[in-house]
Amino acid sequence: NTAGAEHELTDGFHLIIDALKLNGVKTIYGVPGIPITDFGRMAQAEGIRVISFRHEQHAGNAAAIAGFLTKKPGICLTVSAPGFLNGLTALANATTNCFPMILISGSSEREIVDLQQGDYEEMDQLAIAKPLCKAAFRVLHAADIGIGVARAIRAAVSGRPGGVYLDLPAKLFGQVMDAEAGANSLVEVIDPAPAQLPAPGAVKRALDVLKGAKRPLIILGKGAAYAQADDQIRALIEKSGVPFLPMSMAKGLLPDTHPQCAGAARSTVLKDSDVVMLIGARLNWLLSHGKGKTWGDAPKKFIQIDIEPKEMDSNVEIAAPLVGDIGSCVSALLEGIGDTWQAPPSDWIDAVNSKREENIAKMAPRLMKNSAPMDFHGALGVLRTVIRERPDAILVNEGANTLDLARGIIDMYRPRKRLDVGTWGVMGIGMGFAVAAAIETGNPVLAVEGDSAFGFSGMEVETICRYNLPVCVVVFNNNGIYRGTDANPTGGTDAATTVFVKDARYDKMMEAFGGVGVHVTTPDELKRAVDTAIDSGKPTLINAAIDPAAGSESGRIGNLNPQSILKKK
Ligand code: ADP
Ligand code: MG
Repeated sequence: NTAGAEHELTDGFHLIIDALKLNGVKTIYGVPGIPITDFGRMAQAEGIRVISFRHEQHAGNAAAIAGFLTKKPGICLTVSAPGFLNGLTALANATTNCFPMILISGSSEREIVDLQQGDYEEMDQLAIAKPLCKAAFRVLHAADIGIGVARAIRAAVSGRPGGVYLDLPAKLFGQVMDAEAGANSLVEVIDPAPAQLPAPGAVKRALDVLKGAKRPLIILGKGAAYAQADDQIRALIEKSGVPFLPMSMAKGLLPDTHPQCAGAARSTVLKDSDVVMLIGARLNWLLSHGKGKTWGDAPKKFIQIDIEPKEMDSNVEIAAPLVGDIGSCVSALLEGIGDTWQAPPSDWIDAVNSKREENIAKMAPRLMKNSAPMDFHGALGVLRTVIRERPDAILVNEGANTLDLARGIIDMYRPRKRLDVGTWGVMGIGMGFAVAAAIETGNPVLAVEGDSAFGFSGMEVETICRYNLPVCVVVFNNNGIYRGTDANPTGGTDAATTVFVKDARYDKMMEAFGGVGVHVTTPDELKRAVDTAIDSGKPTLINAAIDPAAGSESGRIGNLNPQSILKKK
């Protein structure tokens, strides 16, 4: 603007949109309402894709998994207090799983909140978010929006990725300032997740430990999938000749059918290995904390690659900590391995292979049972074929038996194609993950859901229909949680605590919103219905009737249920 001319103005609404766009944000997942309704409209008008959900937790889960898939923070937008709290569950889950996301919530007036004078949806959201995420920021002045957004982005993706909370009080949106000064206040984040190179000494130490191994094992975790260092990881594994075990969301980084994959020999390799290299996997409960029966009596040495130094020695001693980003660490190892590397002793490789073949052969007949009522294995057997035939489809998976059995049965072939309950083993991620997987990748999505798990986010089938997403939901309907056969111990008329309406027709929910609903009772029918759904790209829900007696309590983790010693009194 020339001097003297009337100054053009901008406002908080537009500065936030401009700041997000400047930093490459293309999609916002959220639920509209006071004070962010107009913001959502304007963002859509300005070319950001705004995906509205029915409940904030699912919008938050969508943002979180968008972060995992893209290495950029997924954005979730909510209203104040209750909407914020609904989104907070997803933010905490994202932080626990090391997924980068930013929860942006509108909030009520600071002056009233801080004096606790009772505002509409009054809540000190910043204070509440803080312990549940990596970082939390509040912006009070329009001129600080650029910095606020920049800090949120950098905090989410640098170092160990995680959730960030950004608090935007209602008043901020309407604040005006000079447009040119506003534009100048925006910050484009340069190199938001800088490479972190491992120290040469640490690389040498890791290689020395690996070289000394008689029975080495590499465990790939979802950090390795996140890192998008697929080629280097594959090269390291193939060059070293070491068997690898993928954690759930690392499946497909190398195909589960790769000759070095020890997935089907999991118990054996955990028990008998002598050196274990963890790449983006934590020794948490999912790996029995690196000790105890699962890990056997053979003394173990651990090499751990992680970007978070504090992760080292969290459960057991790490003989060779390698702190840095996975791409840089694995590249350094590859370089150090050179051309004289000796493959692991053949008796170890033979032992792993024969265990694997034995377990695969044992499982095979169970996957081919084609009869009604279906059990989990019969139904999963055909879904396994579906993914083999369509390796680019994204598999979303939650439930108890539905999760634990699908993880073992359905082979994955490509990186970041399996999205599931993650570090917490949480139910409710299903439809949020499915929506974001479809939006972010454009690939077909197959969501394999226990009937209980599906219930947590089931209303989002409307969202799937509204955006006409290529999502096929398969509900493994066994009439209840774990099983559908429990009875009320008093003999009273209330249902048992773990059962649902018998023979419910979840497929009708999809039809209610214009999607395709199918009810199937045999694996053949299931296979045909899934193929049709994926070929058509139409939102589809397949209600797969599973034998109500087929499940086991808590799937594979029944041991985590506390037991009453008075039970048999
Ligand atoms: P899983 O459950 O598959 O074992 P976890 O979530 O327990 O995986 O572990 C993932 C680990 O990966 C975390 O400790 C995290 O710090 C680490 N991580 C995530 N991204 C990177 C990266 N780019 N480079 C190095 N480590 C990473
Ligand atoms: Mg069930």
